[in-house]
Amino acid sequence: MTSILELEARFDSGVYPKRDLALVRGEGALVFDAEGRRYIDCVAGIGSVNLGHAHPRVVAAIREQAGRLMVCPGIFSNDRRAELLQRLVAAGPKGMARAFLCNSGAEAVEGAIKLARLHTGRPEIVAAMRGFHGRTLGALSATWEKDYRAPFEPLVPGFTHVPFNDAPALTAAVSQRTAAVLLEVVQGEGGVRPATREFLHAAQEACRTHGALLIMDEVQSGFGRTGRMFACEHHDLRPDLLCMAKSMAGGLPMGGILIGERLGEIPRKVHGSTLGGSPLACAAALATLDVLEEQELVGRAARLGRRALERLAAIEAPVVREARGLGLFLGLDLRIKSAPVVRRLQEDGILVLQAGPTVIRILPPLVIEEEDLEAVLDGVARAVAAEASAS
Ligand code: PLP
Repeated sequence: MTSILELEARFDSGVYPKRDLALVRGEGALVFDAEGRRYIDCVAGIGSVNLGHAHPRVVAAIREQAGRLMVCPGIFSNDRRAELLQRLVAAGPKGMARAFLCNSGAEAVEGAIKLARLHTGRPEIVAAMRGFHGRTLGALSATWEKDYRAPFEPLVPGFTHVPFNDAPALTAAVSQRTAAVLLEVVQGEGGVRPATREFLHAAQEACRTHGALLIMDEVQSGFGRTGRMFACEHHDLRPDLLCMAKSMAGGLPMGGILIGERLGEIPRKVHGSTLGGSPLACAAALATLDVLEEQELVGRAARLGRRALERLAAIEAPVVREARGLGLFLGLDLRIKSAPVVRRLQEDGILVLQAGPTVIRILPPLVIEEEDLEAVLDGVARAVAAEASAS
């Protein structure tokens, strides 16, 4: 394992704060390090493996498609892509008519910002404080965190941020110059913070009043994570653009934008992506949708998520500020730093994420065995108690 860590330390760009762990294999909700040690993986590719690692249906679909046709640029049509586009539009919230396919979340957000500006002819985007939308310059302009933004300023002009869940502030920020309001239904990087129904509907109404578009960023919350196929369904929202990525293709890089019927067909040549919507990624995404539906994983996420949130909320320790979440998108906000708790959990064979300095983010694959999820929740309670008495 040391040489893997050394090689990455020596040759990787350096942008990632690395943990001392090299993962070499995964199966379902488990991953294994180079020495064969097993971990329950609630990092899950930062929410990219809702189906777990190496799902046999996804693996088979990739194998089959890799030997048939991997690449087919958008200037041609393709059987796998045609089927996926139709399935995605049907799986999305009401009012979706078309989709654009790309390769990542930031690319999806970037594209949605461009489409909103193009459709409305207006420059401004209203986003939320603590929001995270990716690291390309447009998506970064919508992202709130100063540490991500400051080194790259000046960013794209026209972006404003309102306090999350402050409906009056959001309503006041939208005007005839607004192209779109861009929001997450559950802020992930920003601390696992679910939006209130009031806030989301204020956004939708302000958009309708002023002729702006509502963009929902479901890159992290999509494909069953919150107990609905897309999180905006919890609130009966009808976005004009919906950004997706992460778990979309079962772990293969893929992103996309669902495009509402109000936008109509997008003019030729204004946007594109060479490998976006490759038959390989489309085949993996089709297998992902099949498994989500056949194994009723979305309902499972809702059921397991309710129980997990109850258990997190029941952790009785003065260092716990709040348990938050929706479905299997879970967070525990502490009154102490979360990093040492995350480290303790890793030593205990459980991988979780941070979401800001005090929040533990837990993203179990939706296929996680119930006893493994219970072990994670027991582990979290133990690690919090141990860290509280040590600090
Ligand atoms: N939007 C949200 C809500 C995200 O959580 C992320 C990544 O964490 C992104 C966009 C960016 O996605 P990617 O890292 O695939 O570019």
